[in-house]
Amino acid sequence: MPKFARSPADYLQALRSRLLAYLLGKTGAGDPSAEPDIQKLISLVGIAVIIGPSFALYYAVVGIPELSIALIVSSIVMLSALFVYKVRRNLALSRDYFLFPFFCYLIYCGYYFGNVVSPTTFWMATFPVVGVLLGSKRAGIMWLALVLVFIAVLSGLTDGASPSPLPPHLYAMSLAGMIISIFLFVLMIDGARRRALANLEDANAAVTELARRDSLTGLYNRRYVWETLAREETYAQQVGESFSILLVDIDRFKVINDTFGHVTGDIVLKDVASVIQSTIGERDFCGRYGGEEFLVLLKGRQSAAAASCAEHIRCAIEDLGFGHVDGPQQVTASIGLACYEGGEAFTETFKRADQALYLAKGSGRNRVSIHQIALAS
Ligand code: GH3
Ligand code: MG
Ligand code: MG
Repeated sequence: MPKFARSPADYLQALRSRLLAYLLGKTGAGDPSAEPDIQKLISLVGIAVIIGPSFALYYAVVGIPELSIALIVSSIVMLSALFVYKVRRNLALSRDYFLFPFFCYLIYCGYYFGNVVSPTTFWMATFPVVGVLLGSKRAGIMWLALVLVFIAVLSGLTDGASPSPLPPHLYAMSLAGMIISIFLFVLMIDGARRRALANLEDANAAVTELARRDSLTGLYNRRYVWETLAREETYAQQVGESFSILLVDIDRFKVINDTFGHVTGDIVLKDVASVIQSTIGERDFCGRYGGEEFLVLLKGRQSAAAASCAEHIRCAIEDLGFGHVDGPQQVTASIGLACYEGGEAFTETFKRADQALYLAKGSGRNRVSIHQIALAS
């Protein structure tokens, strides 16, 4: 297998998955619906881990160590939001652990620079956004109100005066940081949307598959059997490939139920279903057509090959043992076989297989009967 170099995005994705597994625990304990929110929390902490230290470094370089230290402390508490979730499994609490230190830091910045027009206050815009992303509209509105109050108070306190002298490039730094944050937010929201869409598609596929299955045996159900036959007929007419239908009916199944009970009857049904499934080929198809009746669709088989497969199935059922339950010594089945004849409707083929099954039952059971087309003389 050739080895491909992994891109930084792959490493980031792997790190994220590990973190997610760690936070949710090995058993996935907790609320599984919280997973998308935890993924967002991880992304937001990731953004904070990029932006926070960059500004801390900037303040250190321009000679404002108090802001640098305040930002580092606030970033560390923000990072701890992940571990708060791990311990308390409370997303709202984690969200507050994430937002409050940053809010306090910005209050300090507002106090330090002394005016609402300082670029540090622009970061207040992120609070309602994160509130919505990591919780609900309600959390977003709460943060919006808090931020507006803060701006009003700061503006009132400073009486609209010019800000204290700002360190060089603070506007440029804040603008660049804000643009990067918006870009990362959008990437994050888009990622969450894509993941939600993929999950929805997976769930849809699982539901569709479930709707096709019989709950007892796990085989395809009657409705899907019928749909498959209709598809096979179209395919046979387009491509010219023939198919055969086997109707497998367990012999005297009612007696098994009456003698050993329905629970044992169900076990017999499951065992018979699984032995039929394991006897047919990969391209073939098997469904539970009725109570103790199974339909096997053999693709591209001529009558001799189909008859041999039917015989295999019959023998495999006959050889099944039921030592593991208080059940019958042996179970047998009768099989009716019909091959699709070009141009006919699949319902005709099915009817002929049913007639063959009737014949197999009438002539002693535990046998394969093949429906032969009466050739016009
Ligand atoms: P034959 O050899 O003529 O096919 O006789 P039979 O007894 O197999 O056929 P019959 O149609 O008389 O009885 C079928 C029985 O299958 C009746 C029904 O109660 C039973 N059955 C149908 N579905 C289920 C099921 O899901 N579980 C169990 N345990 N029994 C079922
Ligand atoms: Mg029957
Ligand atoms: Mg039967």
